[in-house]
Amino acid sequence: MEFSSKLLENAVYEMSQLPGIGKRTALRLVLHLLKQPEAQTGRLANALGSLRKDIKFCSNCHNISDVVLCEICANPKRDKSLVCVVEDIRDVMAIENTSQYNGLYHVLGGKISPMEGIGPQDLTIQSLVEKVKNGAIRELIFAMSSTMEGDTTNFYIYKQIQDHELTTSTIARGIAVGDELEFADEITLGRSIIHRIPFESSLKANG
Ligand SMILES: [Zn+2]
Repeated sequence: MEFSSKLLENAVYEMSQLPGIGKRTALRLVLHLLKQPEAQTGRLANALGSLRKDIKFCSNCHNISDVVLCEICANPKRDKSLVCVVEDIRDVMAIENTSQYNGLYHVLGGKISPMEGIGPQDLTIQSLVEKVKNGAIRELIFAMSSTMEGDTTNFYIYKQIQDHELTTSTIARGIAVGDELEFADEITLGRSIIHRIPFESSLKANG
């Protein structure tokens, strides 16, 4: 792509670094922004700038938050001995929408994926294992999507904590294999949390 302006080229290049955005789409978006009033484009730039600069991750569950301890972790009415292990904030939002869960979360920040070069050390697994060792968790619910990476991640964590005194369960029932949690409808997801099954029996079911 030949550009008559270096500024335009830079903006298109940065835009095309986003997932699913090719050079052509990036050019279309940038030209659109150029047609907007300057104040509007400025608001977008500011929102992105402060998102990156000011965002915090909850010191307990690692969810995205504006404060040190997120609203869920800080809520005295939530059951702190029950922890649901999820991939990212989209899963937290999906489960919160069901209004069927009263425990806390542990946000891993991704899943183990050798293909993408993501190992256990890139996720918040160590902090979860520490919490288990401290004995504060009565039950751990694995709620990763039932993809190969999700299963691998669950199993890796399970191996780290299986010698400790706690119940491990999974919400696998009702969620079809390969479905992402965030796409499951609220009723199905809510039901699968209530009727969660022991983690070990999900291992047997998968062979
Ligand atoms: Zn939190």
